[in-house]
Amino acid sequence: MGQRMFEYDERLAKDVFAYCLERLTHPVPLDYGSLSPEPLPSLEGFITDDGVDPKFVLDFFSDKIAQHVVSCDSPGFLAFIPNAPTKNSLLFDMVVACSGLNGTSWLEAAGAVALENHALEFLGGLAGMPDGAGGTFVSGGSMGNLSALTVGRDVGRTKRPEFAPHQVRFAISQDAHSSIGKALHVLGIEPLVVECDDHRLTRARLEAAMANDPLADSVIGVVATAGTTNAGIVDDLEGLGSFARENDLWFHVDGAYGAAALFSPTHRHLFEGIRHADSFIVDPHKWLYAPLDCCALLYREPGLARHILSQQASYLDVLHENDSEDHYDWNPSDFAIHLSRRARGLAFWYSLVTNGVRAYEESVQATIDIANRASVIIDEMDHVELVRPQSLSIVLYRRIGWGHEQYSEWSKQLLRDQIAFVTPTKWEGETVARLAFLHPDTSEALVREILNSMRD
Ligand SMILES: *Cc1c(COP(=O)(O)O)cnc(C)c1O
Repeated sequence: MGQRMFEYDERLAKDVFAYCLERLTHPVPLDYGSLSPEPLPSLEGFITDDGVDPKFVLDFFSDKIAQHVVSCDSPGFLAFIPNAPTKNSLLFDMVVACSGLNGTSWLEAAGAVALENHALEFLGGLAGMPDGAGGTFVSGGSMGNLSALTVGRDVGRTKRPEFAPHQVRFAISQDAHSSIGKALHVLGIEPLVVECDDHRLTRARLEAAMANDPLADSVIGVVATAGTTNAGIVDDLEGLGSFARENDLWFHVDGAYGAAALFSPTHRHLFEGIRHADSFIVDPHKWLYAPLDCCALLYREPGLARHILSQQASYLDVLHENDSEDHYDWNPSDFAIHLSRRARGLAFWYSLVTNGVRAYEESVQATIDIANRASVIIDEMDHVELVRPQSLSIVLYRRIGWGHEQYSEWSKQLLRDQIAFVTPTKWEGETVARLAFLHPDTSEALVREILNSMRD
């Protein structure tokens, strides 16, 4: 009887495809996440010896569960960093899902890996990294940062044998993403946290911090942020990168959110310093319009990463049979802290190839432009004001006279009313409102509606 579960069920396939088609062709509803007016249904009795009718369960998902998930690809999702996958990327992710792909090694998945590498090579080129740069796609920026900093740490340790292994440090900005601090915690090393002017790490600030630090020689690398998550601020990549080069430090650029603006004709110059990077990440699942979960991780010298991160086991030896000094098979598993993996870069590759670079440029630019419009509208209204000038596609503003409670209540009500999903943040200790634009279809009318909902 167990065989039944491997049989193709044509009716079920039609029902599932019909559901997917509905999602792809209708405007994306915002839905409620945990703020749904309906309680989450009980799942008691769902796991049974003989299985439950699949159509019943599909309907259960669509009628009773889906509304408890905020759709991050709705143009009204302006919290955290949204995700707005292109229709092509979603469709191709279904192809990947149905292809039974394991994107771990060249041996198993050369074709898929070649497509992923094609996308990585394009991103590396866009960022000005040299020929030969490469890496893999990992689950997200957090895993990308951890993998890259592991390589940077190990390379740095060999250059500073006078320090105990746990004494080497990375210089980071006070505004580095939380995943950087977490990665260093996992790696068992400390940061040198550099204070910055207006939250932007510059070469001058880094030099001053190192000059004042009695253990400055223990710094083996610098982490720069190409677009902070909270405010969209791009560090002085050129200055930090050249400083790292001159001092033989590992240079990691975390562009998880912001480096997508490499596609923006008006903003790409901010990212020129990535050409100095030893490692660099950008999340296609953020502002490059690919589905979750997908982070592009690139190394200037992938061989270093491979040396440090490759997993060794007798059952894996076959993956390395063709390797020699000057050639090795490209196993994605060698370039990050992972082994088995889905070929998660393919949906991005397909979207980029089928939509073309110009469409990406226009979408990223349209997003920056709507953020710009929002800033102008905020300036014009009396009850709100900008906290700081807009950076990339992030706008921080305050509702004059409000405290934390009011922002929090307002945010929940906005979602309950199905207008938009906007969550407050903190800026220099103060609770403020934050709009993170990503969907090029977010309209000026919606921005006005959000701002008007903050009147009394
Ligand atoms: C989002 C983000 C991360 C973490 O990426 P995940 O994909 O959420 O793991 C790291 N750094 C920056 C700058 C980010 O914006």
